[in-house]
Amino acid sequence: MKKFYEHSEVSAVLEEFTDKENGPLPDQSHPRYAGLGRCWGWKGPLNNCGYPTIPVVGRSLLAHRISFSNHNGGIPYKMCVLHQCDNRSCTNPEHLHTGTHADNMRESAERRNGLAPKPKKSKNEYMRKYMQEYRKKKKANNQPLTNHPKSV
Ligand SMILES: [Zn+2]
Repeated sequence: MKKFYEHSEVSAVLEEFTDKENGPLPDQSHPRYAGLGRCWGWKGPLNNCGYPTIPVVGRSLLAHRISFSNHNGGIPYKMCVLHQCDNRSCTNPEHLHTGTHADNMRESAERRNGLAPKPKKSKNEYMRKYMQEYRKKKKANNQPLTNHPKSV
């Protein structure tokens, strides 16, 4: 358990940037979010991936990790802090739990399975259409297509 995050300056900034009243309420009709209270809105900066950051002590700290640590007495070594609410900027400790990177990947896959996956237009689909046209033209005048899609 690491106590670094209990630095009082960090905790003060965390409090200052956290809006406990006005964060979004996760969709209560979705079983994954049912029973979760409001997210704690984040008024501070976000990093490139959308996670809340605290620019103090010469580095950029992840606010959701600090929040979890402050409320649970630390973060086990090498563990990730995962969002139950899928709101990356949320710092509500009730929406946070620890897990491994593999747990995060698995939960993310489970969430995707709950939703309709986007139909993916694969290269095979492209080739299938190309070959269809190729055969049609070849049949019509016995001439192969010259501009293969990969040569463009
Ligand atoms: Zn949340």
